[in-house]
Amino acid sequence: MKIKDIYETMEYGPAPESAEAAIDFLKSHNNRFQLFIDGEWKASVSGEYFDSINPATEEHLAKISEANEEDVDSAVKAARKALPDWVALGSHQRARYLYAIARQIQKHSRLFAVLESMDNGKPIRETRDIDIPLVARHFYHHAGWAQLRDTELKDYKEVGVVGQIIPWNFPLLMLAWKIAPALAMGNTVVLKPAEFTSLTALLFADICKQIGLPKGVVNIITGHGTTGAALVNHKDVDKIAFTGSTEVGRIIRKATAGSGKKISLELGGKSPFIVFEDADLDSVVEGIVDAIWFNQGQVCCAGSRLLVQESIAETLYKKIRKRMETLRIGNSLDKGIDIGAIVAPVQLKVIEDLVRQGVDEGSALWQPSWACPKDGYFYPPTLFTDVSPSSTIAQVEIFGPVLVAMSFRSHQEAVKLANNTRYGLACSIWTENINLALDIAPQIKAGVAWINCTNVFDAASGFGGYRESGFGREGGKEGLYEYVKPRIDDSFSDKPVVKAPKKSKIPSTNGHPSSGIDRTAKMYIGGKQARPDGGYSMVIKSSLGEYVGEVSKGNRKDIRNAVEAAHANNDWGNRTGHARAQVLYYIAENLIIRRDEFAKRIVQMVNCSKSDALKEVDESIERIYTYAAQADKYDGLVHHTVHRNVTLAMPEALGVMAIICPDESPLLGFVSTVIPAITMGNNVVVVPSETSPFSATDFYQILETSDVPSGTVNIVTGNKDELAQVLAKHDDVDGIWYFGTKAGFKDIEYLSADNMKRTWGNNGKYRDWMDKAQGEGEVFLRHASQIKNIWIPYGA
Ligand code: NDP
Repeated sequence: MKIKDIYETMEYGPAPESAEAAIDFLKSHNNRFQLFIDGEWKASVSGEYFDSINPATEEHLAKISEANEEDVDSAVKAARKALPDWVALGSHQRARYLYAIARQIQKHSRLFAVLESMDNGKPIRETRDIDIPLVARHFYHHAGWAQLRDTELKDYKEVGVVGQIIPWNFPLLMLAWKIAPALAMGNTVVLKPAEFTSLTALLFADICKQIGLPKGVVNIITGHGTTGAALVNHKDVDKIAFTGSTEVGRIIRKATAGSGKKISLELGGKSPFIVFEDADLDSVVEGIVDAIWFNQGQVCCAGSRLLVQESIAETLYKKIRKRMETLRIGNSLDKGIDIGAIVAPVQLKVIEDLVRQGVDEGSALWQPSWACPKDGYFYPPTLFTDVSPSSTIAQVEIFGPVLVAMSFRSHQEAVKLANNTRYGLACSIWTENINLALDIAPQIKAGVAWINCTNVFDAASGFGGYRESGFGREGGKEGLYEYVKPRIDDSFSDKPVVKAPKKSKIPSTNGHPSSGIDRTAKMYIGGKQARPDGGYSMVIKSSLGEYVGEVSKGNRKDIRNAVEAAHANNDWGNRTGHARAQVLYYIAENLIIRRDEFAKRIVQMVNCSKSDALKEVDESIERIYTYAAQADKYDGLVHHTVHRNVTLAMPEALGVMAIICPDESPLLGFVSTVIPAITMGNNVVVVPSETSPFSATDFYQILETSDVPSGTVNIVTGNKDELAQVLAKHDDVDGIWYFGTKAGFKDIEYLSADNMKRTWGNNGKYRDWMDKAQGEGEVFLRHASQIKNIWIPYGA
């Protein structure tokens, strides 16, 4: 080609990055990698290997060991052995190791970038400018958290041995997101990379060796899903952190139910990219390139659903098509390409099948005129228009370079369409009107909201989903809580904390059936007293076996009504913290007035002394004061992230929560769980103590006289575990707290997997609710909320 021709076409020539250093690294291991266990390279017991292929060229890169159960066991044992010394090392020494890792990654950043591009097929421009700098940034940031751990999180301790399973779309970055906070908080880890992309994790193992990281602190075991499953099911792992598909996330949720393992899940998404008519459309087009063609669209938070205001839809589609024509696809090591290869043939086939389905369902497909390279696994950027919101391609995560466009007319319709998904990972909002953007952001059910930007990440900000996109956050202060546990948890009891009953002077009941007065307490649903659907009631006896009264026996239908009533209330969650505090103080005030009456009820049910009952009422009043005080103080953070950006970390209510109260401490157990949940703006469905429910059924009179809006607190009495299971399975319940038996908690964790609702409880341990350190605190508010990070760039 002549220079004149080049000037005429302005066509780019190839600009290949050298693969030499990466090839040398592979050779240094004879292109055959072992497992990294206890600080050494060890052959797998299975003796089996699988191949790692460059998806852009189909070249064979290396053979990778397949770890079996025995190998997983060795790695877990190494991590367990290393744990005490790693903890004893202290914050500062751990910080130095993390800093050393960050420095080494920076020093070898080009090697990491090239190796990542060869292994995954993603453009070198992305690994060089985005993935690897973010990896280094993550280790620097967490070197800082390691240093600050003892002051900032002094009431927390490490979780222990952490099993981490990561996907192939951001191999080293996901490793950093997992390993950096885990080590910073004093844990040791066993990490399994995805089978398609193990190489940078293995290079990372070399770095751990080079810096002299104590043996066993980081163990890398390679293999398929079965290796991951062996890690999940290993008895001596204290936590599982997983990023990957919602399907596998659900398997992990079920497999770990009742095991006491802490879990965090970062799963799939179908994130909306919302464009209002006043948006700067040229910026929007570049935003779309970043949203869906970054990493070939193999991004959990890809803006894969374009929602565009009808008035500008055709203009925008035209601009997008024009831009798509100019995108360059090719070898990942070519510095001039925008789109690399799809990670593996199996993923390519998933994309092809879904696109075919989109066409069959009647959506209009558009692809650029140029062709993809013949070798390697490539798929062209694709735009679907005329898409129905319920079609498969609008609902299912395609995980490829496929944009699905729909239009909307009003702002409300935009929000409805955006939330019309089972996922909730991210959203991107484009408008020049900041008032509109900040009005829409809180209405979208997603863990991240990018305003006039997209796919921006930083170690200082949390990342993670709502709904079936999983739970837990990675990054930022909020991400640290996934790798620690409250020290106070160690003091929980194995048995319910109750005082021995004694005969009291207060008559056990004034409503015995023989008196002819109907004393059956009703349930409380949607601000009204409600009779049970089944028409049954339950006799409640005191702890000494005396008749106290009867309560309604709620069933599935009562739960359904209560959940509906909770959803019908949009008022409570939208109030300011101050407005909610007013109501909470009012509740406390009304309880003070009826202090004696509530104490008597406690005596009747649990046969404690009057003074103990009064203490329980007084503690309940004080607890309500605590949360009323917190209502306008437990707030978010403004994170220091990227240049010229305000990142707001805002705690939001989960939505509708189910609270299964402890049986013991009938009033205080109810107050200690229900009040923090509503403090954060949730509406709740409460199953009170099964054995002593009257403190809760008496409480609705207090709610009615304290300006609590109807539907904010709904009370369904009956068989605790039966009702809890109905709530755990309910798709419209966003979170569930369960305070009861170990078996009951296991059921809750298992059944909650269907819609991935958040669960919390004591896993068969018992709190002393009278002890402030155990019965109240920020931990309750944290579990009643989830953090949304809102990114707002600025600049004139
Ligand atoms: P998976 O969820 O299967 O893989 C993620 C990780 O989990 C991999 O390391 C995988 O191992 C491992 N794994 C697989 N099965 C189990 C199991 N039963 N127990 C424990 N670990 C397991 O994702 P895929 O790679 O199969 O991709 C399929 C789809 O998942 C994609 O099309 C996309 O929709 C979604 N996905 C979402 C990601 C996200 O970031 N949210 C990332 C990747 C995929 P191995 O790879 O060896 O099988």
